Amino acid sequence: MPELPEVETVKNEIAPHVLGRTIKGVTLLWEGIVKETPVKEFLDRVTGRVVTAIHRHGKYLLFNLDSGDSLVVHLKMTGSLFAGASEPPQYTRAIIQLENGQNIYFRDPRKFGVLKVVQDSNVIESKLGPEPLEKEFTVRIFAERLKGRKAPIKALLLDQKFLAGVGNMYADEALFASRIHPERISGSLTADEVKRLHKAIREVLKAAIIKKGASIVTYYRPDGSKGTAQTEFNVAHGQVEKCHVCGTPIKRIVVRGRGTYFCPKCQPAAGGKL
Ligand SMILES: [Zn+2]
Repeated sequence: MPELPEVETVKNEIAPHVLGRTIKGVTLLWEGIVKETPVKEFLDRVTGRVVTAIHRHGKYLLFNLDSGDSLVVHLKMTGSLFAGASEPPQYTRAIIQLENGQNIYFRDPRKFGVLKVVQDSNVIESKLGPEPLEKEFTVRIFAERLKGRKAPIKALLLDQKFLAGVGNMYADEALFASRIHPERISGSLTADEVKRLHKAIREVLKAAIIKKGASIVTYYRPDGSKGTAQTEFNVAHGQVEKCHVCGTPIKRIVVRGRGTYFCPKCQPAAGGKL
């Protein structure tokens, strides 16, 4: 599933294709992709509008339109945006036609992806926690948000209201890098652990952006190529059998319904010291 680094990559690489362009029309090959607004209203509000800016909030992409509306894209589990392809890729659900003849294809095999139009982008932002890579996300803010929280830390990191953009892969990688067991009660982390985890979240996300995201199964960059962040995973997705630090086999458990990979020695349950 695309997380912050994947969506950031899509934003950066789709921007040159759409900025300043007029949307000539949108062809829906599956109307169910449009959420919240009736399809006709959606098409009316998007057609003929100029894309003035593009932003990412958590895992959402927002295309600001000259009408003041924003076209919102969520790739969910298996979505990708393609630009520059001459034919629609298999599983294309929507085609955004630009006035210069170029098409943006929304490919989505599992059909969980979302297209919608909103008047006020704050309706998206207000549902999300802090952006982990922004300077406002300090260790102090992170510590305050963790205080008293009873959920396992792995589950809390996936909660988009707690922190925007982190998903299953980068939560596992950040917990490994900070040597914290995924089932630790969030509010029980020591000051040192909070500091380590804060640093790890930021480093893991930044490294993955440099690698243009992780292509495990269905994530593609807009030009159809794959990201390579998965080649540096230490635990996520069970990509590696043994811990590269200590040689212990990587273990899989399920935390609040999500498959979770960790090193039982480097990330001890009691929060041991290393
Ligand atoms: Zn280990």
